[in-house]
Amino acid sequence: MEKKLYAGKDYEKEFNPRDYLKTYYSFDSNTVDENEVLKFNLQNLFQTFSSGGVGGDILIDIGTGPTIYQLLSACEAFREIIATDYTEQNLQELERWLKKEPGAYDWSSVVQYVCELEGDRSRWQEKEARLRSTVTRLLRCDVTKPHPLGTAQVPPADCVLSLLALESACPDVDTYRAAVQGLVSLLKPGGHLVTVVVLHAESYMVGSKNFFGLYLEKETVEKAVEEAGCQVLKCNYCPNSYSKALCTSDGICFVVARKGPSA
Ligand code: SAH
Repeated sequence: MEKKLYAGKDYEKEFNPRDYLKTYYSFDSNTVDENEVLKFNLQNLFQTFSSGGVGGDILIDIGTGPTIYQLLSACEAFREIIATDYTEQNLQELERWLKKEPGAYDWSSVVQYVCELEGDRSRWQEKEARLRSTVTRLLRCDVTKPHPLGTAQVPPADCVLSLLALESACPDVDTYRAAVQGLVSLLKPGGHLVTVVVLHAESYMVGSKNFFGLYLEKETVEKAVEEAGCQVLKCNYCPNSYSKALCTSDGICFVVARKGPSA
């Protein structure tokens, strides 16, 4: 195993989307811990977007990575989804799936699981088609910048979603707090921030490479969201986390917050 801890700009060259997908999103295989985390996230996203009253025109997902699982319930509740990531290779991986290109990652078992949560497992192909038509733009982003989407013109969003990305991107808590503010700045007043954070992270494996993870406590996350002008509506803690060999952490939390009128 390599000793180096990758972070920051290393993502551009060292983060391999296929290694990441194989490790954390092999839903059919026996990676029990990883599947439990994925199910926790899918269940919470289902509740949030199906009956939680979170919906509207535009959803922006920040740090989408090479994954689409986080958009499966959301695509029923929004007219348009903008997916973003720091690296070109993750956006290419996403595009392969969106365009059904050869070699695209097979998400069908995850899509079927979400359709089952929503009440009809058999409509998974319809959902895949719906998601493909709802994701309208793929943009580069950098959450360590005051304007995470740079000069790209995006309308104020009804929802900003970000799973497992800020603790990978931010080297310290001050940067994390500023990044949360950057995400909230993309929201309309009254819009929702939905985020999932690995707690007490230190590092996580992608293939043979060890990447930095920011150590965050639940209270730090809630405080950052409140300081950014949001009211925390939900903060669900799940003690389950990834396999110890892959990721040092102490559970994850799923947060839903609403931006106040003056934020
Ligand atoms: N959201 C996905 C991917 C998380 S992996 C999931 O739920 O699995 C962490 C992601 O953070 C990677 O896709 C990486 O490219 C992205 N990332 C790293 N640095 C970033 C930065 N400065 N700004 C935005 N995203 C960044």
